[in-house]
Amino acid sequence: MTVNKLKIAIQKSGRLYEDSVKLLKDCGIDLKNGVNKLKTESDNFPMEIYFLRDDDIPQYVEDAVADIGIVGENVVYEKNKKVDLVEHLGFGKCRLSVAVGRSESYDGVGSLNGKRIATTYPLLLRRFLDNNNVSAEIHEISGSVEIVDLVSSGSTLFMNGLKEVETVLQSQAVLIRNERLNAGQQLLLERFLFRIRAVKKARNNKYILLNAPNDQLPEIIRLLPGMKSPTVLPLAEAGWSSVHSVLSENDFWDIIEKLKEAGAQGILVVPIEKMVI
Ligand code: ATP
Ligand code: MG
Repeated sequence: MTVNKLKIAIQKSGRLYEDSVKLLKDCGIDLKNGVNKLKTESDNFPMEIYFLRDDDIPQYVEDAVADIGIVGENVVYEKNKKVDLVEHLGFGKCRLSVAVGRSESYDGVGSLNGKRIATTYPLLLRRFLDNNNVSAEIHEISGSVEIVDLVSSGSTLFMNGLKEVETVLQSQAVLIRNERLNAGQQLLLERFLFRIRAVKKARNNKYILLNAPNDQLPEIIRLLPGMKSPTVLPLAEAGWSSVHSVLSENDFWDIIEKLKEAGAQGILVVPIEKMVI
């Protein structure tokens, strides 16, 4: 018999909770609002959702208590459990960094030799130090001057009189899976992944509409990548057209500026909800 439900573990509360629930929602997976704070299920997708501490998620997925999970790469690598990393999810971005006192002189990783470094990421730190031929003491406590911790903007470090000197790991939320899913679970995971990828694509792209004088169309079309090529429709006013296309978030502002210079007017940019190519 094939199991026809996919069990997913997500963070119970904390920095990944809201974005994880939002991802499920954007994938069209509605969660039942129950009183149960540990577990819920979806009405419209065969999925059970477990709410856990992020530290426990890799172990639960290794043990197949959950089939898949959403957790930071930092936790996945530190816990080093037997799970497969399936997909980067594009949220929860941060870095694991080495920080030292702001007034301390620092010239390269060699400066860490002989230091005591406090962290809750001993495995990742050990690997980083070994790769850099640094011998330092690792303490899983606070109180030392050198620390290794997660950073997103760096403002917390600054407020604590520290400066960031090395990056141990760039991290974001990822989807992990148990290594031995049965055929039914595998199929559900593929359906879920198909939706995740459509949501990710949509989040990274914007739909753009603009008006252009016809004599400027070749230049404007050249600037717009589009999925195939831009859509061009005549406006009621002679000599003008409406141009529609899709722009990636990355080079968005760059292209908008060039479009304006090329004579584009009335530029509208709208979010895309799902994008299937
Ligand atoms: P839990 O109670 O589930 O154990 P936690 O306190 O260990 O939660 P959070 O602080 O909620 O964890 O962070 C969860 C994850 O969010 C981190 O492991 C990391 O992947 C990501 N993250 C993103 N930005 C940051 C940041 N600035 N500081 C810490 N974690 C961050
Ligand atoms: Mg934790």
